[in-house]
This record gives sequence, structure tokens and C-alpha cells, in this order.
Amino acid sequence: MPVRRVLKYPKDEARLRKPSTAVKRIDNSIKNLIKDLKDTLATEEGAGLAAPQIGEHQRVVLVRFGQDQGEMQPPLTLINPVITEKGPLVKSFDGCLSLPKIFTWDALRPSWLEFTATGEDGEPIAMRVEGADAAVVDHEVDHLDGVFFLDRLDKDAKLYFARTDENGKEKLVLLPALPS
Ligand SMILES: [Zn+2]
Repeated sequence: MPVRRVLKYPKDEARLRKPSTAVKRIDNSIKNLIKDLKDTLATEEGAGLAAPQIGEHQRVVLVRFGQDQGEMQPPLTLINPVITEKGPLVKSFDGCLSLPKIFTWDALRPSWLEFTATGEDGEPIAMRVEGADAAVVDHEVDHLDGVFFLDRLDKDAKLYFARTDENGKEKLVLLPALPS
């Protein structure tokens, strides 16, 4: 299955803003979509990827848990994820494969959340996650609703750009204003 192009902000904003529709049946087209998402995420450093980011407006996302433990787990597929309960919003690390190399520590995300979903083999999933894992689920479910992470920034949020210097070292540079 092919690696797909990830839609980019702001060029592809209209498609990133389009809400996705619920999956009715895990048929071959959904199985192929999940394979494409996995192949695409495998080439990136992200902790998650949503189907609309590759232009497929179906409620399917991949999440990789374990960032707070220092090691990301393999991607978990969530079909029709629904957040059923959320803790208080806290400033969280965030970034998006649709806006590469831009990061913030000031995105407002729930400190914990509970969600339900269907797994890729049709199994029911119900989990409670916290910290970075909660932020990732919230970020990916937002994509299904056409919400972009810049919408979740605190009003004093700082955005950083990861620039590679002449020695090939990455360093974070504060951006003067939101990219538009
Ligand atoms: Zn994203």
C-alpha cells in the first residue's frame, strides 16, 4: 500500500477543515485506508495521523501512545472514536504533520480523557488516557471534525519552528506570529 501525501496547512486548508463521516462497515476500502495511514505514519515522526490528513474524509485515526514514557508504541487504529469524558484543559505540547516543524507547548488540551472507538478488527475499545496520550487523541478527533491545532492555542501561545542549522543540528526558533 502506498505512502500518501499528507495535506498541508495553509495550502490544503479547505480539505483539512472538512468534517469526516462515520464508518459504517469495515470493508476493504477501510482496510486499505488503514494500511495507507500506517504506511504514511511510518515515514513520519508524528504521534498520530487522521484519515482526512490524506484526503479521505472517514472517521479513522491512528494514535501512538507512550510519549510521556519516552517510547512511542506502535500505532493503534481508532474507527469512529468518541470522547466521552474530558478532564480540565491544560497547556500541552502540540504539533501536526500538516504543519511540519512547527511546535507549541501552549495548546489547550484535556489533562485526561475517556473515549470509545472500534478497533481495526471490529473490536470495541474503551480507554482512559492522560497527558500526552490524551492530547494526541484530542488532536486526532479534532481532525475528524475539521478542527486544526492552531484553533486550540492559548491566546499567549508561542510557536516554535525547528530549523536545521549549517551543522545539521535542529534548533527551535520562536516564531514572531502565527503562520497564515
Ligand atoms: Zn494533526
